[in-house]
Amino acid sequence: MEQWDLIIIGGGPAGLTAGIYGARSGLKTLILEEKTLGGATAESPLIENYPGFPAITGQELVSKMAEHCRRFAVTIKEIEGALELDLSSEMKTVKTDQASYSAFSVVIATGCHYRKLGVPGENEFKGRGVSYCAVCDGAFFKEKRVLVVGGGNSAATSALYLSNVASSVKLVHRRDQLRAEETLFRNLQERNVEFLWNTVAKEIKGDVKVRSVVVYNNKTGKTKEIEVDGVFVQVGEVPNSQIAIQAGVKVDEGGYIIVNERQRTNIAGVYAAGDVTNGPVKQVGTAVGQAIVAATEGFGYIKRPYYYKG
Ligand code: NAP
Repeated sequence: MEQWDLIIIGGGPAGLTAGIYGARSGLKTLILEEKTLGGATAESPLIENYPGFPAITGQELVSKMAEHCRRFAVTIKEIEGALELDLSSEMKTVKTDQASYSAFSVVIATGCHYRKLGVPGENEFKGRGVSYCAVCDGAFFKEKRVLVVGGGNSAATSALYLSNVASSVKLVHRRDQLRAEETLFRNLQERNVEFLWNTVAKEIKGDVKVRSVVVYNNKTGKTKEIEVDGVFVQVGEVPNSQIAIQAGVKVDEGGYIIVNERQRTNIAGVYAAGDVTNGPVKQVGTAVGQAIVAATEGFGYIKRPYYYKG
């Protein structure tokens, strides 16, 4: 079994940052990423609130972080997902579909995946008009009519991105105001994105591809069918905490890993950072900050420097 000091599970901004800090503090550091690097951030059309980068795409930012990480001799294994963790002894083990690894300390930075809307037609038309990623699929909707569901930053940034591509963008939100940042709301208004307030998407219809969405207005009680070519579902996230839960890591009622201010979980030597944690603000900046704390704590736990407060 390959032995490491620190294993980081997940290669988004939190995982890459933990990698930089782990390696720079002299730890033999491995990052395991089940897909390609970047996590959900790589799919973000535009990031305007990461200090130092007034406007950058998620993919560009992640590429810079990955390059930074590789410069400090972090070993990164992509397309190798952790399947099982054993965190019960001092040497923790991580089993993937390809190998088993052991380490003194583990940082869990597995992020989140998209929440589904759960309406008829959603699964049926996935990839045939239903999408969860504007950056990945937006180009298929050039000069087409699209509808975005959700009221958070993801829905707002997706709608903005699509407004550069599609012929019309409608934003459907179940309330009369967005949860997204005010700046994004103003930008949406400037881009002629049409808001359907107090509206719930009930069904996605089509034949070989999406043709329409049935929406219900929860104030007027009226239902109508809107003809569209694409539906972008952006209704939040679900934490990727399953393998951590199976290994005994405690989570809150939403499945987010419970951490303290030092990113410690309930298991000694096991830390979590980024969107998978119960941290109150889910941003690239907070993920990066949490990861710095987690990797620094991991270093303290492994090397026990004189100033480490265990
Ligand atoms: P979010 O902030 O949790 O927002 C989810 C939105 O979907 C909410 O408006 C919610 O409505 C709505 N929703 C949830 N379930 C629904 C359902 N079944 N049917 C209809 N609507 C539903 O999620 P997010 O926008 O994906 O963002 C996730 C996190 O990443 C957030 O913390 C966000 O700030 C962050 N993020 C930041 C940026 C950025 O700063 N540039 C970009 C993307 C994401 P209610 O409002 O009624 O609950």
